Amino acid sequence: MARLNREPMSTREEKSSSDLQEVQRSLAQRPTRKIRVGSIYVGGDAPIAVQSMCATRTTDIEATLAQIQLLEGAGADVIRIAIDSKKDVEALKVLRLETEANLAVDLQENYRLAEQVAPYVQKVRYNPGHLHHHERSKPVEEKVKFLVDVCREYDCAMRIGVNFGSLDPEERTNGEDPIEVALRSAEQHCEIVEELGFQRFVVSLKSSDPFSVVKIYKEFARIRPEVPLHLGVTEAGMLPDGEIKSRVAFEQLLALGIGDTLRVSLTLPDGEKNREIEIGKQIVRDVQEGRFRSVPEFLGKTLNVISCPSCSRVENGAFVELARKVKEVTEFARDYNITIAVMGCRVNGPGETDEADLGLWCGPKYVNLKKKTEKLGAFPYDTVIDRLLEEVEKLIAERSPLQTESTTAQ
Ligand code: SF4
Repeated sequence: MARLNREPMSTREEKSSSDLQEVQRSLAQRPTRKIRVGSIYVGGDAPIAVQSMCATRTTDIEATLAQIQLLEGAGADVIRIAIDSKKDVEALKVLRLETEANLAVDLQENYRLAEQVAPYVQKVRYNPGHLHHHERSKPVEEKVKFLVDVCREYDCAMRIGVNFGSLDPEERTNGEDPIEVALRSAEQHCEIVEELGFQRFVVSLKSSDPFSVVKIYKEFARIRPEVPLHLGVTEAGMLPDGEIKSRVAFEQLLALGIGDTLRVSLTLPDGEKNREIEIGKQIVRDVQEGRFRSVPEFLGKTLNVISCPSCSRVENGAFVELARKVKEVTEFARDYNITIAVMGCRVNGPGETDEADLGLWCGPKYVNLKKKTEKLGAFPYDTVIDRLLEEVEKLIAERSPLQTESTTAQ
């Protein structure tokens, strides 16, 4: 196993030549299946693909096309788009005529939309935790078969995208480690898909906690070494923390030959989304060339503001500014072990904030606020910060600085 250095974040150090050879051997000899995603290959000896997702409303064709071009210009190998409605599908048809980029579609609850979007994309992502929302009486195997049939018919690859914030409700049992639940869900879905004779898929197992990400990907790679992996730390947040969290996880995994494609999820204004690609490529380059940075000590022990990278589901563009402001105004609490999650939409916001001490998720006019799983109310954008600060003050009164026991998502 390659040994990673533990120097301070500000330093960069070349690895010794034998360590570097070991890393390069691991990277070159990934045991995963090589699958095709449009014009590229993912897995096996294919280069590590770097991808991103459009944050614009898919129906805003001009803005979405501009973002696709921005990401392509930065060298994106795959670009993901969220599709939630028939209007999004119509917009996708127009976008397809304007770009040759490898497009992936992110399906939410309405899995049947896959049939309408697959002719226009190269990859379909589904989340096992979301397959239960529609047609509840239909067995999950039938729904997966539908998706596999669609992918096969339209020459699409697939991603089984497990997310700690939206685990399959039927799989969750009280007190069980979410890592175990996520692993079980991923394994179960791999089996279903493979039993249908389909192997053109990748798996992701994302969490907002980089240490959980390292743990779960290592374990999954041990159990299913042949399955190509898409790496990601969800809701990594603003720069520079967002880059650090992704780097912490990706360095450790890539150096072991784990990871075939990746996304750095950052909360950025639309015009700067290319930075996700640039940073992702830089991390891959650094690992390949033996440059590593240390694991920061602050994660899980001090204030941790996480925020999603936004996507077309954001209903109010004020989200990015809100995330920035939350980080700025809570800086005074940096020595306290508090996690605040800021999410851009009502689709994933409620679930993805469950493990934070304080969670905010954005609607068109109001921002919802909760403390752990208790809902505190919905507040206008211009007053929610004051209400949040009240709650932060209360938490500080309850906790001592630099409390060592973490209450953050593990
Ligand atoms: S939380 Fe909502 S807005 Fe943010 S990335 Fe996820 S789906 Fe998109």
